[in-house]
Amino acid sequence: MPDLTRPHGPRIIAVANQKGGVGKTTTTINLGAALAAEGRKVLLVDLDPQGNASTGLGVEQDDRLVTTYDLLAGDVTLSQAIQTTTVDLLSIIPATTDLSSADIELISNEKRSFLLHDALRQIDIDQFAFDFVLIDCPPSLNILTVNAMVAAHSVIVPLQSEFFALEGLSQLMLSLREVREAANPDLRIEGIALTMYDSRNNLSQQVEEDARQNLGDLVFQTVIPRNVRLSEAPSFAMPVLQYDPASKGSLAYRALAREILDRETLRQKG
Ligand code: ADP
Ligand code: MG
Repeated sequence: MPDLTRPHGPRIIAVANQKGGVGKTTTTINLGAALAAEGRKVLLVDLDPQGNASTGLGVEQDDRLVTTYDLLAGDVTLSQAIQTTTVDLLSIIPATTDLSSADIELISNEKRSFLLHDALRQIDIDQFAFDFVLIDCPPSLNILTVNAMVAAHSVIVPLQSEFFALEGLSQLMLSLREVREAANPDLRIEGIALTMYDSRNNLSQQVEEDARQNLGDLVFQTVIPRNVRLSEAPSFAMPVLQYDPASKGSLAYRALAREILDRETLRQKG
């Protein structure tokens, strides 16, 4: 439900796909950095107990004293949980393996699907003036991912350009529909992002063709190529935009950020 007293809250986007290794974390980190490079203030919420987004942005284990788990458990306020990163305009709430127990511990809670929704609407988010919140989801359709979908305005679905990529999508769509019916009727699909695309590979082209034919405008125009710089950057604890700004991976995520911003402008006009 829109909060009319605070019409300028951030746009909250969940990056979700129940399949592991499809580019969720890579997309969250680099899209976040790319939106920041466009002058937007971004909060990244690491909602995966593996904490890959936290690691990839250089948040050491020792610096994860306050995490997404503490926020969901209601033990800390939003401003206590938010940390700055080495990337200008990009902040993060990091995650640790604590979060994996949330799945079990939260089940007794009646509002268990709304924990992130409520946390991100705490009044103290206003002082940060975020334009975007990006949520990096775990590779599952568990209660954590449901929390992300309930909290979000829209969902980005990274789709690895390989055989069977489209098959897992129907399960995700089902979850989206359930969340819409039960909790968040306005939840949109922001877009489906084809990742790890190899233009020399017929299979990649076939997946793109299928996706565009079946899903039309839901598929982002921008395609993310397979690019080794994207896979190297996390071990240097930085987004590819910092690690190798001229790389194909960097340029692709910058294009994706602009595509999202352009679509938003269009939506606001129309
Ligand atoms: P997920 O979060 O969905 O599990 P990741 O973003 O962690 O997926 O990506 C899985 C692996 O693939 C990681 O090692 C990552 O560095 C690598 N990877 C992701 N996207 C690309 C890409 N476009 N090109 C090359 N490697 C990529
Ligand atoms: Mg991940």
